[in-house]
Amino acid sequence: MKYYIQTLGCAMNYSDTERVSSMLEKLGYEKTETPEDADIYIFNTCSIRQKGEDRVYGQYQNVAGWKKSNPRLLIGITGCMVRNTSTKNTERENQDHLLKLLDQLDFVFRINDTHKLGEVLSEAEPRLEIPELEEGGLNDYLRVKPKYQVAHQAFVPIQIGCDKYCTYCIVPYARGREKSRPMQDIIAECTDLVEKGCKEITLVGQTVNSYGKSVLDEQDGQFAHLKDPFVSLLEELDKLTEKGLNRLRFTSPHPRDYNENLIEAHARLQCLTPHFHLPIQAGDDQMLQKMNRQYTFEKYKKLIDKIREILPEASVTTDIIVGFCGETDEQFENTVKAYNNVRWDMAYLARYSPRKGTVSWKAFKDDVSREKKAERWHKLNKLLEACSREYNESMTGKTLEVLVEKFDNETGLAEGKSRENKIVQFPGAPDLIGHVVNVKITNALTWTLKGEKIS
Ligand code: SF4
Repeated sequence: MKYYIQTLGCAMNYSDTERVSSMLEKLGYEKTETPEDADIYIFNTCSIRQKGEDRVYGQYQNVAGWKKSNPRLLIGITGCMVRNTSTKNTERENQDHLLKLLDQLDFVFRINDTHKLGEVLSEAEPRLEIPELEEGGLNDYLRVKPKYQVAHQAFVPIQIGCDKYCTYCIVPYARGREKSRPMQDIIAECTDLVEKGCKEITLVGQTVNSYGKSVLDEQDGQFAHLKDPFVSLLEELDKLTEKGLNRLRFTSPHPRDYNENLIEAHARLQCLTPHFHLPIQAGDDQMLQKMNRQYTFEKYKKLIDKIREILPEASVTTDIIVGFCGETDEQFENTVKAYNNVRWDMAYLARYSPRKGTVSWKAFKDDVSREKKAERWHKLNKLLEACSREYNESMTGKTLEVLVEKFDNETGLAEGKSRENKIVQFPGAPDLIGHVVNVKITNALTWTLKGEKIS
């Protein structure tokens, strides 16, 4: 029996997919790279934008059609689109909305219920022979040992849920309250990874730098003795450099939980990379308030100034939403001014689309026209292109440490990322994949750096 998982969205989802894969393999399924061959097809979904959901609905139609040639095919959905773990055989009133909407769908599960996947499948298809799994380590989804995609890089989740309630975001409803994973579990997972040759670990969480500080964390008291639990965790993980860890990243932090201590840790800790991703979302204070981001541009800029004082060459990147409810031309121009002021070298730009169930969907009007959103997006994208190129040009002539991720047989180019998270290409060989090499940058393009490997 074979399975296929289609993953959309953020690093957290890719990390979750590794745990879902592992559960399915414990249940006796085998991964297939050919979606049409699967007996279980799971969508791990993202609800941040309408586009992500539309992709799921589009592909679902195709997959549902495969049931004609493979009647035992089971289709499931997990991730941010799901509210309620249930199957086509659950009583109708307790079924998730997706099961009511998609008649060929067999089961859905909240990602936090990954460890219960065996029970879910048994309910969806009672004729399946699902093995009884030993309890050991499977009673919590983050304790499911993941099936990592590659040996040299890994995502490690350190918290689940989110307490921030940005008005446009569905995540707190989809993933529940924020809760941090025990530090010893994270250290054990990372140590095991590094001992098996992992060079780069990315810690993932919805607001990763509030690790250990949520209400639920305070209630269980395990972090009470730590002044700054996230920095303490980074310090512990930095000790793994002795065992071969080359770089430690984290995504996505919230500006509200960034402080000088964390910025200084980037300069102090050997494996923490000089890359700061600080999602601003808007450069106008009224918009920020309406989004419930709980900082002003001035406060945000102070963090950037501190970063540039301590690590002037660090990469600083962001996320921005254009056309949020009621955004006037003047308010948008404040975001343009903010861009010109900060000059983020990379930004993920999104046009606002209301997500059902969020505060902005209930309380505000999506009143910026599609055309205006597109116009604003293109204006910011031009600025982004200029800033990305400017930053890349500043790297010309420098020697960067690159962790090689792939090799293209046709061009003979190896590709990887620098510590600043920039894509670097250079003439190489397939056996460099997974290795860290020094590359002298000879040419800067808008999104890519070109160079030559130096021995
Ligand atoms: S911080 Fe805001 S945008 Fe990020 S997951 Fe939480 S609610 Fe969503």
